[in-house]
Amino acid sequence: MSPEIVLAIMNIVLAGMFGAVIGSFTNVCIYRIPEHRTVVKGHSMCMTCGHELGALDLVPIFSWLCLGGKCRYCKTPISSRYIKIESLTALMYILMAATHLSMFLDPMDMTKNIFPFIELCALFIMINVIIVEMMIMHDTGSSMYVLTVALLIDFAVQLCARVLTVVNSDASKELGSKITGWGIEILAGAAIAFGAVVIAVLLSNKPKELKSYLHDSKGKALRTSDLFAIALGGVIGIIPAAVASVVYLIARIAIGNGKNVKYLGNILAAGAAVGYFGYAAILLIK
Ligand SMILES: [Zn+2]
Repeated sequence: MSPEIVLAIMNIVLAGMFGAVIGSFTNVCIYRIPEHRTVVKGHSMCMTCGHELGALDLVPIFSWLCLGGKCRYCKTPISSRYIKIESLTALMYILMAATHLSMFLDPMDMTKNIFPFIELCALFIMINVIIVEMMIMHDTGSSMYVLTVALLIDFAVQLCARVLTVVNSDASKELGSKITGWGIEILAGAAIAFGAVVIAVLLSNKPKELKSYLHDSKGKALRTSDLFAIALGGVIGIIPAAVASVVYLIARIAIGNGKNVKYLGNILAAGAAVGYFGYAAILLIK
């Protein structure tokens, strides 16, 4: 094996291990954030017997496997969610590292590597924010759960497509760059809508009430409508997303925090569906 290949494999394995560790922290965030508990202090303990967990109990993925999914002290089964989240994060980190291999192969060239490095760090953070959001939505029974899953799948498909562009074959490169192109347009549309949502939230909720917007069950209808706006931006591409965002911004500020905001959510969901199928129809006719 050439030294480049060895180095590439080493970096991919390291990225997977790093991902598993961050996945472990992700689990802590998923459980503690809804309870308004700090995620930086405090020891981990068994949820049944309360025994403090040692270093050997906290090795991501391996501890769960070695202990057969049971607490070392009281033998109560531990949720398989821990190992699933750790494995998912490890897998996504491996995909992300694989799309940034050139950076690892020439680590000393900062002028060439600074932007890929920033991009990789942003990807690392973004994927964990999506996973934490997704699982909190799942646990609280929020209707946004489906959308966060869709976002994660979109993210994974794009990463796979970018791995294809790294693999040296013209056909896979062409397919890869096509999917990446769509993905960039979809994410940019979502980013524009996200910007509109943030501005609307800041203007219609007083900044001090932002915390209740994020936590209270009352805020659920508001958050759902806002997420539909982001999803709408995500399915229709950059230019329609910019137009839709302006309309959303005006409607959202006009309705404010009133109970009619849930109709805004429904209308946006219908708009997203029409936009998506309309866009697909236009592509098919072309
Ligand atoms: Zn226990």
